[in-house]
Amino acid sequence: MNACCMKAVVIPHVRGAWTVSQVAIPEPKHDEVLIKLHASGICYSDVHLTQGSLPGKFPQILGHEPAGEIVAVGAAVTSRTVGDRVGLAWNQRSCGRCEWCLGGRPRFCLHGISTGIEVAGSHAEYMSAPADATMLIPDALSYEQAAPIFCAGYTVWGGLQYADPKPHERVAVVGIGGLGHLAVQYAKAAGFETIAVTHSPDKRALATQLGADAVVESGAELAALGGADIILGTGNSHQAMVDAIAGLRPEGRLVWMGVAEDPFVVPARLFEQRGRIVASGQNGAQYLYEALDLAARGKVRVMEECFPIDQAAEAYERVATGKALFRAVLVM
Ligand SMILES: [Zn+2]
Ligand SMILES: [Zn+2]
Repeated sequence: MNACCMKAVVIPHVRGAWTVSQVAIPEPKHDEVLIKLHASGICYSDVHLTQGSLPGKFPQILGHEPAGEIVAVGAAVTSRTVGDRVGLAWNQRSCGRCEWCLGGRPRFCLHGISTGIEVAGSHAEYMSAPADATMLIPDALSYEQAAPIFCAGYTVWGGLQYADPKPHERVAVVGIGGLGHLAVQYAKAAGFETIAVTHSPDKRALATQLGADAVVESGAELAALGGADIILGTGNSHQAMVDAIAGLRPEGRLVWMGVAEDPFVVPARLFEQRGRIVASGQNGAQYLYEALDLAARGKVRVMEECFPIDQAAEAYERVATGKALFRAVLVM
């Protein structure tokens, strides 16, 4: 690359402002690619990192929902080429030598490198990343639609699978927001009867549009409809997930996929029903591949607001205050 500088959203310190700055374009290492970003989704984890409720390193460029095209490759890269459309998920490198790496579960590696934590993320015009950490984006999927799949879509599809759903089981989704609006669509794409649980009257019609077979307000209402075998707990309220347990069927699973600030008090009902709480992140590249493929085939559509990178601070504010409908994406 000849150009020396790019725009990037730099956060100078914890609780600092999202500031568009000029910084050097990264040089890809021998096993890395340089990605010219076209879209970068803002995840609620970016809010946690900015506010210090998740540990981060500053100054930093956040962003772990990248989508762009490869414009340069390192000398040792054989599996990617200039022009490939790619993105990558949060975990990008691991040590390759510990019990977790050797056992095929590198997300538990204590020496992992995460996008936007240990190294610069994607709220910028360019980023470098290990070629092996990238995933090809299906041709039918735009960059703007692909970006949020690299965290939000991957999380809900991987979480649903991790609950080990069986044919004929019923799925409920708690919270119709950044993760939840995708969870409803992924559960329907997989063929499950799906019930949305939301306290917001204005989201009821939307949940139906997204494919929900029924919409209820509470765990008690979910129970009255016969309950759900799997509850996908999304959103920023533990209380809403705990309340939904009233509608969990015997041996049901609550998938906890959104970390909130309020206490998580497990009700006795979970014990009586021999239920399980399954904490779940992204669970392996096959789920990212499938999540992108389902979106490319039109079975899942991200509802999003796009902002030019110069309006990053405004976009961040929309996400931090819960106003974004439902993902905010920076476009370059
Ligand atoms: Zn995320
Ligand atoms: Zn390791």
